Amino acid sequence: MKSSAQVVVIGGGVVGASVLFHLTELGWADVVLVERKELTAGSTWHAAGGMHTLNGDPNVAKLQQYTVELYREIEQRSGQSCSIHMPGGLMLAGDRERMDWLRMAQARGRYLGMDMEIISAAEAKRMFPLLEENYFIGALFDPAEGHVDPTGVTRAYAGCARQAGAEIYQHTWVSDLRQRPDGTWDVITDSGEIHAEHIVNAGGLWAREVGRMIGLELPVLAMEHMYLITEDMNEVAEYNAATGHELPMGLDFDGELYIRQEGGGMLLGTYEQACVPWSPRETPWTFDQQLLAADLDRIAPSLEIAFKHYPALADVGIKNVINGPFTFAPDGNPLVGPVPGVRNCWMACAVMAGFSQGGGVGLTLARWMVDGDPGEDIWAMDVARFSNWASLAYTNAKVRENYSRRFRITFPNEELPAGRALHTTPVYDRLTAHNAVWGASFGLEHPLWFQRPGEEPREDVTFRRSNAYPVVAEECTTVRERVGLTECSNFAKYRVTGAGSAGWLQRLFTNRLPRVGRINLTAALDPSGHIVGEFSVARVGTDDFFLFGSQIAEAHHSRWFFGHLEDGVRFDVLGLSLVGLSLAGPGAREVLQSVTGASLATENYPFMTFRRIDVGMIPAYVGRMTYTGDLGYEIWVAPEYQRALFDLLWQAGRAYGIGLFGFRALMSLRMEKMFGTWAREYRPIYTPVEARMHRSLKLDHDFIGRAAVEAEMARGPARTLGYFDVTPDPAEPADVVGDEPIWHDGAVVGWVTSGAYAHYSRRSLAFGYVPSELAVPGAMFEVEIIGQRRPARLLPEPVLDPAGHRMRV
Ligand SMILES: Cc1cc2nc3c(=O)[nH]c(=O)nc-3n(C[C@H](O)[C@H](O)[C@H](O)COP(=O)(O)OP(=O)(O)OC[C@H]3O[C@@H](n4cnc5c(N)ncnc54)[C@H](O)[C@@H]3O)c2cc1C
Repeated sequence: MKSSAQVVVIGGGVVGASVLFHLTELGWADVVLVERKELTAGSTWHAAGGMHTLNGDPNVAKLQQYTVELYREIEQRSGQSCSIHMPGGLMLAGDRERMDWLRMAQARGRYLGMDMEIISAAEAKRMFPLLEENYFIGALFDPAEGHVDPTGVTRAYAGCARQAGAEIYQHTWVSDLRQRPDGTWDVITDSGEIHAEHIVNAGGLWAREVGRMIGLELPVLAMEHMYLITEDMNEVAEYNAATGHELPMGLDFDGELYIRQEGGGMLLGTYEQACVPWSPRETPWTFDQQLLAADLDRIAPSLEIAFKHYPALADVGIKNVINGPFTFAPDGNPLVGPVPGVRNCWMACAVMAGFSQGGGVGLTLARWMVDGDPGEDIWAMDVARFSNWASLAYTNAKVRENYSRRFRITFPNEELPAGRALHTTPVYDRLTAHNAVWGASFGLEHPLWFQRPGEEPREDVTFRRSNAYPVVAEECTTVRERVGLTECSNFAKYRVTGAGSAGWLQRLFTNRLPRVGRINLTAALDPSGHIVGEFSVARVGTDDFFLFGSQIAEAHHSRWFFGHLEDGVRFDVLGLSLVGLSLAGPGAREVLQSVTGASLATENYPFMTFRRIDVGMIPAYVGRMTYTGDLGYEIWVAPEYQRALFDLLWQAGRAYGIGLFGFRALMSLRMEKMFGTWAREYRPIYTPVEARMHRSLKLDHDFIGRAAVEAEMARGPARTLGYFDVTPDPAEPADVVGDEPIWHDGAVVGWVTSGAYAHYSRRSLAFGYVPSELAVPGAMFEVEIIGQRRPARLLPEPVLDPAGHRMRV
């Protein structure tokens, strides 16, 4: 065994093998994989090997597409068969909502070049004669679905990696990991030690235990999962003989099951409601290529539906029942990337669909390690989308919810209940008393809207407009015509202090730093000129700054800041040690002025001022800006003051007709002001030139990514963020939710990033990226909403107050 290596990958399942392969592909040959038993000894060996490209996140779908397309290549290069079967797959809809969902999935696939087809139930029956047509109203056929041999795939990755110089040590258990002061690692195994520059946790079923070796509690949980294989069936043989090919795979949402041909019989797996975690606290190291006891009672409800939907199954014997564990993160997506706060430590775990995702996970992680950038938008898989709040118990609740909902529709306006309410701010009870309908993001509860008194604070889940629609319209009117109050604690807040702060931030940020007492907006870029983040920067001293950014990206962004930290700078993540309330609307100044001695007149407190003042008796930092685009203030206080602040403002606002508004209204208000948002308009796949962040780009100083920005400005961006006025179907109005394709002249040319109905302006609006040459004001496009192409006109400026008078008065 080598005593040193550039990388030690821990775990020889399909994911670890893929990481090893991709590292060698990118030129790192001094790489080692350590496996405690034999390759595939964790979840991999007993997987059903199914694969598909469809995913709720288009960026993950793209990586799944890459994975599926990789198998032929590794098979050929390694000489190891992967047993690739590509019969295509049917997603079967039993009701209208599922049909809508399939249409949306088909639409999302369009701009990824995925060639999926909506077909009738009769056509589905022709393709898959085992099904009983009456239970379905239609289906989506995806030709890019199939299955592979899990062991073959893992060995093929390993074979290719070995050819390129990688070494694999089987029957070698990593028992401890110790970091040296220089950030390198001593990997302690039962066969000796390896000194490594980087470690990768691809420990699969033991990823949590490997994490614990370095003090991490990863949000990963294994679930038991069952599938059964039938005896050979005449119906299958007849179909194969008649068509010359295998039956397509089937996804049956109502039965919460998947079904496919296996040999001369069928394989049927379920995601049952009565799901069971496996080894919820600790995975035994003694577990080794074992199966768990089958429990057919648990999957009986799904089997009952299966026998109705596929009657031939009722009469065939079961040859084999497989029950094995595999791991999930709380949202079902993998955990990939550098661990915040730990140098040279990388994750590639919680991959629940190793045969759809393993290749993409390996590719992006290897790029991240070798090039410093994953090269794709992997936000949905970034290990930093969770933080310490994702505890063992939280993970348990969320994973069970996620598993049992695997084949359920999650509507765009749906908030799932497990693991809540976890983080609340002090005004939670106050807002609940005002009938708040709550949502959660990054573990924190935030008010979505405020139901009318006496009515149940609950939102109907739908692809169309919900019962929130008229109430949110009233909240928007309150803000635009009187004064609205909302909570704004759900920003990430950071403080930067120390003698080197100003110089440091200036090198990171695209905008000039604001003067003391002022705020501005800025972007941070990577060296290739892509957007790492966008922030409000408030300066309270020469070397004293508050930064406000996206809350969901708090761990992601703080990892980036810490990664760039310099001597003489202190960077603090403020979390809930600073909470906020926001006043917005033409009456905001009068309300706040009535409770503070500081003059808020525009000449003394102009737009974009940020100062420490007293509000009543409460010490606060007050910024004159809000995301509504109206006159407004964000008031930041220590949590122990938030209730008193709420009471004070609420009382003072009565004379001005104050009302509460929530996140839904905020999204509507920001749309009519053409304000973009992180994770939608601004993501690491876009540049600030494409995103039209020109006001935050000042080329009078050096910053990371500047050369790339200048080059892009000189040649012009390939695509541009457009702002669209969409005409919904008057019979059944629905607004965009994000990821819809944008059509022009009969072809898909772009995609929607986000949108909303702008209640005050009475228009349905959307943001989306289109080729720059088409981004001409007034140009007509179509946006595909639930299977319908609706007209969309590109607008040159915000539909409300384009000159920005309202926020400056
Ligand atoms: C019944 C069943 C059916 C499935 N069907 C499908 C399917 O159809 N399609 C699909 O895509 N996915 C399917 N899966 C999921 C799939 O199996 C997983 O996504 C995949 O195997 C995860 O691979 P991995 O490499 O992350 O983890 P694992 O396969 O668990 O590999 C981790 C490896 O790390 C090793 N290891 C851990 N700790 C150490 C250590 N300290 N030292 C040395 N080695 C260590 C382990 O021995 C193990 O071999 C199924 C799973 C089950 C249980």
